[in-house]
Amino acid sequence: MQFKNIVGQQHIKNKLIQTVKNGRISHTQLFLGAEGVGALPLAVAYAQYINCPNATDEDSCGTCPSCVKFTKLVHPDLHFTFPTIAIEKKKLSNEFIAEWREAFMANPNLSELDWILNLDSEGKKQGNITAEECRDIIRKLGLKPYEAKYKTVIIWLPEYMRTEGNILLKLLEEPPEQTLIILVAQDADKVIATILSRTQTMRIPRLQEEEITQYLIEKYEAAPEVASAVARISEGSLVQAGSLIQAGHANYFEMFTTWMRLCYNSRKEIESLTSWVEGSAGKGREFLKSYLIYCQHMLRSCLVYKFGDPKLLRLNEQETAFIQRFSASLTETNISPIVQEINKSTMHLERNADLKITFLNLSLYIGRLLDKQKTA
Ligand SMILES: [Zn+2]
Repeated sequence: MQFKNIVGQQHIKNKLIQTVKNGRISHTQLFLGAEGVGALPLAVAYAQYINCPNATDEDSCGTCPSCVKFTKLVHPDLHFTFPTIAIEKKKLSNEFIAEWREAFMANPNLSELDWILNLDSEGKKQGNITAEECRDIIRKLGLKPYEAKYKTVIIWLPEYMRTEGNILLKLLEEPPEQTLIILVAQDADKVIATILSRTQTMRIPRLQEEEITQYLIEKYEAAPEVASAVARISEGSLVQAGSLIQAGHANYFEMFTTWMRLCYNSRKEIESLTSWVEGSAGKGREFLKSYLIYCQHMLRSCLVYKFGDPKLLRLNEQETAFIQRFSASLTETNISPIVQEINKSTMHLERNADLKITFLNLSLYIGRLLDKQKTA
């Protein structure tokens, strides 16, 4: 993985390169960034850069023996720890390394859930980073590097380590020479404080709209106007942008306005609502997941419109006109539960819940909350 293969984040790339040029590589770092902003590929590219003998001021060479091994994630001095689930006695990250390589190669911005579903297609098991895994990290880093300047371990989603993470404290405090430990996290609040306080944090910001637009045009051959519309609502995340573009976001606006109207009138129009739900469920799980991302975006926009600074709205004219009218039905007390319920439904959809039932329950719930506002 070279820096040039990673979307955007030029400022972060420059900072990382500077640490190498100045000989100030911190041994224990935390890359902190939301899902889909590139924190994991940046960690891999950084380790590759540090170990490339032909690195320039901009990037690793990509062709030397070290780079070639890093690109395939097979370098003997590159290790990964990530959440796993116990399957037939397998539970250490090493035992899942083939699946890991394949998933990362297919999509270096893979999401937490995609990875877990990759291991357990029903999504019923919880991912874990176990005490045994923590001891395995210490063992691996205790060995001298085989051929690299730095032996590296990348710990993806340290949020999964609870008290067992304390096994690593001494290692994080005094790592052996020539070692680099990069933790890649999405939510600092969920990383145990003892670990957090022993790492140096590098914050990875959300991507710019233009960067996502360009990515969608290049990777998915999206039409520029569609790419920029999707970029606008994808919250700076390639994961969200990818699922939106694959589902074809074109008529979400129309779907959203119809849906909200039917929910609002759910008492009188229960039959129309039910058949709308059936029709929408027919479009499939991936489509609905992306559609709900769009709905979240619209509802958050209502919040901004009502309680924030309307200048921050990222909407087109048609959407703005709708939000202005629709916001009248929303209050401080009903909008958060609606957004939370949509989140919950998205999780159910990801975990293979029945589409029709999930969507109908959600519609009725939204209908009740909008109704309360009517009668209030
Ligand atoms: Zn190289």
